[in-house]
Amino acid sequence: MPPKPRRTKVRGGNWHVLWKAMPLSWGTCEDRKRAIELEHRADSPTLLMATCHEFGHVFFPDLNEEVVQQFGEELSGLLVRMGYARE
Ligand SMILES: [Zn+2]
Repeated sequence: MPPKPRRTKVRGGNWHVLWKAMPLSWGTCEDRKRAIELEHRADSPTLLMATCHEFGHVFFPDLNEEVVQQFGEELSGLLVRMGYARE
């Protein structure tokens, strides 16, 4: 069962965090819906990485995919090492 939807502030704006079955990715950022959508079946480190990645898209809309990918991997890697996800 997916976790319940959440709301979060990103740069002062309200965004939804929603759960969705996604066969091709672990997450998406839907600007028109102001929603970060995540695949809840991902393992804990992958879900953390996808959350950091999609949050990065929202927070830094001018960054390209490669930099957002690096941001998500590096921040989530640190958080995993700090114990915020099960390895
Ligand atoms: Zn991306």
